Amino acid sequence: MLPLPKQICILCASHEGGELGICKPCLNDLSWHSSPQCPQCGLISDGSICGSCLKAPPSFDATHALFSYDYPVDKLLQHYKYKETLHLANTFAALLTNKIQASTHSHKIDRIIPMPMHATRLKQRGFNQALEVARLMGNNMQIKLDYQSCQRIKYTPPQASLSLKERIKSIRGVFNCAQSLQGLNIALVDDVMTTGASLNELAKTLKQAGATHVECWVIARTLPKPY
Ligand SMILES: [Zn+2]
Ligand SMILES: [Zn+2]
Repeated sequence: MLPLPKQICILCASHEGGELGICKPCLNDLSWHSSPQCPQCGLISDGSICGSCLKAPPSFDATHALFSYDYPVDKLLQHYKYKETLHLANTFAALLTNKIQASTHSHKIDRIIPMPMHATRLKQRGFNQALEVARLMGNNMQIKLDYQSCQRIKYTPPQASLSLKERIKSIRGVFNCAQSLQGLNIALVDDVMTTGASLNELAKTLKQAGATHVECWVIARTLPKPY
């Protein structure tokens, strides 16, 4: 038997990074999103559907978020996004797969669709960070990956520079789905869910194309601080 490759832990530089590239103590210290949460949007609740989902239900039916978007996960994701640590896609995909497979409210999924990136931005960046994770998760879970049915047809400014109201306005009509998704259960994969405006708009587009069930699988969810 070959010895397991010794990987350096990306966080503490110990030689115990193992297959994931993050050592056990550092893994334990990550900002896992394990608080009781709204099954629909992933925000903290008593475990039932939250008030805002009841008042204005989003177009997606469920959310699975691996981490809260806090240190050091925020830094890891920023590195990952700019391709400095592309192998992190494996780590994120493995951890998110485990979380979804262990979930008590997992749903049968027919297709995985990564958050589409506009062609102009794809050219600038060279890769779609959501697609890389979605591809690996499709392999892990034996679910068909679909990154072609749905396109981002409008170029929008980076969402981080916008207020919530501006985000919702700027994201309207951004996606186009060229194929029928009649009767399909779909999981959307994205790196960070902030307000959920993009995922909501994408879910809306997929439902208009016939999708029955749409859920969000995200690496990290921005959670409002309790103070
Ligand atoms: Zn470590
Ligand atoms: Zn909710």
